[in-house]
Formats: sequence, structure tokens, C-alpha cells
Amino acid sequence: MANRDKISSRGTVQDRRWSTMTRVGGISIAGVLLILAVGYFGGTDQAVELRDTMQESSQTPITSDDTSEYDGVDEYETFVSTVLWSTDDLRERSFAASNMSYVDPTLVLFRGATTSACGGAISQVGPHYCPSDQTIYLDETFFEELTDRLGAAWGDMAQAYVIAHEVGHHVQHLLGITDQVSYGDNQASIALELQADCLAGIRASTVSDIMDAGDFDEAIDAAAAVGDDHIQETTAGYVQPESRTHGSSDQRKERFTRGFESGSFEACNTFG
Ligand SMILES: [Zn+2]
Repeated sequence: MANRDKISSRGTVQDRRWSTMTRVGGISIAGVLLILAVGYFGGTDQAVELRDTMQESSQTPITSDDTSEYDGVDEYETFVSTVLWSTDDLRERSFAASNMSYVDPTLVLFRGATTSACGGAISQVGPHYCPSDQTIYLDETFFEELTDRLGAAWGDMAQAYVIAHEVGHHVQHLLGITDQVSYGDNQASIALELQADCLAGIRASTVSDIMDAGDFDEAIDAAAAVGDDHIQETTAGYVQPESRTHGSSDQRKERFTRGFESGSFEACNTFG
């Protein structure tokens, strides 16, 4: 997105990357392993997993004496806040058309670990959405790890896809869709994830005029790389359909493309 500087508005980003964690407590080893087993990034399901785990394991979640905002704004924060604004603008207009008010999410940039209303955010969980504080948690170094482990190039378009996907979980939370899905229901979880991918596709369609030639492929490759089957193949060496919670690579590509080509919320409404 070489021309993204044309977009001058910014979403709400808290930059905690320069905060120092002074104390980390409350996450048991079992709890951390549970979180990691859920997947690379899934937003709501992981946030719910994290919250549930924290409630069961301890009353003292990750704490920090310093969650202060870093004063400076670097290129990465500018990029993230620009992407966030583009999704905010899209949602505000679509919610207004339905006579509903949209609440902008906050995005917290951090490194390593930070506090959250879901009991804390750690880098290994990956980008995720916490419904309790309506905040997306993002550790930029996670993308470097993804590049190494999953083989996809995580450029700015791929990262924008991830952010828009997490905003999709925020929309699902605002609309009460998330509450209708009980935890542990893998099919419903996949439906939520695919719908978030479709919503990310809609967001991409709104910036198609400033996308570079390879941007669509970059986003679609990212969607494919985080499909459950691809993750299982690259980490476990085999595919276990019954343990899927995010959808296959083909499903995620198809749903992102559906949102991109239609630009329509109706097209993302189906859970089929
Ligand atoms: Zn997700």
C-alpha cells in the first residue's frame, strides 16, 4: 500500500511497546499451554480462552506498573492506526445505515506481555480481541515469527488483513453474535472466524484504489497461511479436521475473497 499516506485519519492506538513489565503473575504453566494450543490468532475464541483460564487459575492477572503511552509515533504506529481508522470509518457508515451507533475499538501495541481486561495479553497468543475492554492486542514481533514459521511474507497488506480480521471480532461482539456461540463449539467458532475474514475482505475492498498490484495476493496468502490445515501441517505434520477452530486455508481464502469482491455485509452474513 504505497499510497496509504493519502489516508490521514487515525484510529485509537495505545502504544505500550516501551513499557516495562515489572511483574508477571497469575498465569499458570498449564494456563499458558492451553492458550497456545488454541491457535495462532483467532480473536474472540482465544480471548475467551484466556479470560476463562485466568479466572480459573488465579485472581492475580498479569500486572504492570507502567502501561503508559509512549509519546512518539513511529512508522509502525502510524500504519496500524491508519488501518484501524479505515475499518472504523467503514463500520461507522454501515452501522449508521442501520440506525445503530458504532463504538470504535482501541488497539494496544505491546511487546512481550501487557495487561488486559481478559487477564493479560502475551505475544505468543498472537493478535487477538478482548471483548471485555473492546480492545485489540497486537505485538508487532509476532509477524516476524509467523514469517519464519509459516513461510508467508507478512508485509503491510497481510498485517492489515490481520487487524481488519480482529476488528471483525469487535463487530461480532457489538452485534451480540459472539454471545450466541458457546465455547467449545468448533463449528460455530469456525463460522465466526470465517465471517471475520469476510469482513476483512470488505475492508480491503474499500482501499482497493490505493492497493499495489501484489497486495491482494499478499492478503490472500496470509489468509491461507493461517488456515488450520496449513498450521497443523507445518507444526504437527498432519491435519486433524476435528480440532479445527478457524477454518481451512481454502475456506479462509474463499471468505476473504467473498468480502473483497462483494464489498457487502450481506455476503458475510451467512454462516454457511
Ligand atoms: Zn479470529
